[in-house]
Amino acid sequence: MSTSLDGVVAAVTGASSGIGEATARALAAEGATVALLARRTERLRTLADELGGSTSVHAVDLADTAAAVAAVQEVVAHHGRLDVLVNNAGFGSLTPAREAELDDWLATTSVNLDGLLAVTHTALEPLVAAAAGPRGVADLVSISSDAGRRVLPVGAVYSATKHAVGAFSESLRQELAGAHVRVGVIEPGITRTELPEKGAGDSFDLDALGEQGLLEAADIADAVVYMVSRPARVAVNEILVRPVEQG
Ligand code: NDP
Repeated sequence: MSTSLDGVVAAVTGASSGIGEATARALAAEGATVALLARRTERLRTLADELGGSTSVHAVDLADTAAAVAAVQEVVAHHGRLDVLVNNAGFGSLTPAREAELDDWLATTSVNLDGLLAVTHTALEPLVAAAAGPRGVADLVSISSDAGRRVLPVGAVYSATKHAVGAFSESLRQELAGAHVRVGVIEPGITRTELPEKGAGDSFDLDALGEQGLLEAADIADAVVYMVSRPARVAVNEILVRPVEQG
């Protein structure tokens, strides 16, 4: 049994492509009003035009934590509430450690971790307030990764950020359960977006997945919608989704 997202305000970071864009579409299709956050505002505006209604666009570079805080404050001021936050923005490369630049490592933590913390910190009280309203719950969903569940020999920093998201989320889950803020992580396997093409380097054989291939962004958006559309008594805290042939 799923519940409608009519009247729900959902903010999605990294909504300009891939999983975030698909998630924004899927949440809007279930009735949510969506706030779109990313740097590429032309893409966000095109998506907002497609989704219509009260969809809003918020330009932000999440590597700038002050800007991340301001963007979430802008969302709450604009819509007057925040029921669902999807921490989706992120990136990383699968570069062997000895070939990686320190700046690349720090750029990864600045978005995947610092930006996510700034967004989440700012959203906490609005989410608690929303959970006390008629819907009876609020949702904090973070897109982690298969690499947040296991460790592979390349992509050390990407994997470290995603493990950190898992630990952060589980601690928050325990703290916020009493306030009816459901905290969940979704852990995608390899998904057809800009990310694996940008970050794969030579070490990620995208053709090795056989006939069934990669997941589509919509497959992960489905998982987000499943998580946030459960009845208020149900908290789905973790979903791991891999392509059928990913080992
Ligand atoms: P995309 O590259 O298609 O999307 C990444 C999104 O993050 C974009 O909308 C981008 O927006 C946003 N983003 C990146 N850097 C910043 C920044 N500094 N400030 C604001 N927004 C930023 O990749 P995916 O859709 O695949 O990635 C989404 C999430 O899924 C990530 O957290 C990724 O780690 C995770 N994931 C992806 C997997 C995959 O195989 N694709 C597997 C496992 C997890 P813009 O550039 O406009 O700012």
